[in-house]
Amino acid sequence: MSERFNGVVVAGAGPVGLIAALKIARAGIPVLVLDSEPGIIQLPRAVVYHAPTVEMLDRLGLLDEMKVAGILKQDYQFRTVHGEILAAPHMSVLTPEDTAYPFNLHMPQHELANAILRNFLAIPGAEVRWNTRVTGVAQNSDGVTVTMESDGGTQAIHCDWLIGADGGSSTVRRAAGQSFDGYTHPERLISTNLVYDFEARGFARANFIIDPKYWAVIVKIDRHGLWRITFGEDSSLPEDQVRDRIAEHYRAILPDDGPYELQAFAPFRVHERSAVRFRTGRILLAGDAAHVCNPYGGLGLTSGLLDADVLGDALPAVIKGAAGDDLLDRYAEERQRVFREVTGPTAAENIRRLKETDPEKKRADGERLRRLRDDPGFQREALTFTYKLVGRPIGVPQQ
Ligand SMILES: Cc1cc2nc3c(=O)[nH]c(=O)nc-3n(C[C@H](O)[C@H](O)[C@H](O)COP(=O)(O)OP(=O)(O)OC[C@H]3O[C@@H](n4cnc5c(N)ncnc54)[C@H](O)[C@@H]3O)c2cc1C
Repeated sequence: MSERFNGVVVAGAGPVGLIAALKIARAGIPVLVLDSEPGIIQLPRAVVYHAPTVEMLDRLGLLDEMKVAGILKQDYQFRTVHGEILAAPHMSVLTPEDTAYPFNLHMPQHELANAILRNFLAIPGAEVRWNTRVTGVAQNSDGVTVTMESDGGTQAIHCDWLIGADGGSSTVRRAAGQSFDGYTHPERLISTNLVYDFEARGFARANFIIDPKYWAVIVKIDRHGLWRITFGEDSSLPEDQVRDRIAEHYRAILPDDGPYELQAFAPFRVHERSAVRFRTGRILLAGDAAHVCNPYGGLGLTSGLLDADVLGDALPAVIKGAAGDDLLDRYAEERQRVFREVTGPTAAENIRRLKETDPEKKRADGERLRRLRDDPGFQREALTFTYKLVGRPIGVPQQ
């Protein structure tokens, strides 16, 4: 069966696809979202959203709702696994000239996605088709034909534009013929959610543990005492014994034997990769479909949401004839530049610093931490760095 859809199809109901869908639908353009899963994915993934994304969520009228479910955080610590605090930058040093949003938002990724979904579905005509997997894509000069599989069998839909926001293994990216350049880290990351009171033990709400073996991040997830520890391990270790190794890591990382409750865990392979082009004709990539990085520093989804923010303005402008479609080339080029020059290299440095063993590099990293501790100017620079992920304006006309 084949149907015609006069609007934009978004592959992927992750946070990135949903922000793009929300903005495009609010601009009055029909949007249909397709997702292979039965609902929002519940895996223990992102928790931290940096100031520019908080600002964007506020602009979209979503922040108040998210503040109820999440927490606003200003404090960081860099620590050894033995409990020494090496630096403790705090976003309260930021001035109104730096940002009107001197905090990060912490909340589970699935709750963030659910909040965006609720707002999208509140728009008349907005639709998400769950259990619908995109399997193929073809395009000509007037549109894109998306092939999909659902309980009803194989179907095709012909739409005007397609956004591939279908995650790191993106079918849309492959079907558009884009390779995914970069590399995969040798380690496996284990993301764990636990109940344990780190704050009562002097931890900040975001902590980087620097250690060649027990490197990790420890982050507060919500106001109900849930925390995240993500650590790395040799990927040749058997995956079915991850639970035992979590206990071993916790013995090293937790400051005492106080009881903890492990609520969820999941292993991940992580990559530093980006698509060769974020635009192929009428197909546009955003979020993990366009670029992936390791989670240390919380830059992956932050970057992806900012892609969706720009695309959510640019595509309606082109569809309404307020801009030529070269605006979409500028979207593709600028968002790729941001990833390749800023997000990717910073994320790679973040994970390196946690586990570095080379004495020369450790000395340089130590000097950086000393500046982060003692030099207020450097602290402000580091804490506002994430505004570089916003990128340069691409010339979207005011409408
Ligand atoms: C352990 C961990 C911690 C992280 N922490 C952070 C953090 O704190 N901050 C941060 O910014 N980032 C973090 N990240 C990265 C973040 O999780 C990703 O960047 C984010 O998931 C990307 O969102 P997305 O919407 O692009 O893709 P996804 O969330 O992967 O969504 C893609 C959607 O597409 C659907 N889909 C897939 N294939 C198809 C298909 N063929 N047809 C239809 N639908 C399809 C999927 O079901 C899914 O719903 C973390 C990642 C990990 C692994």
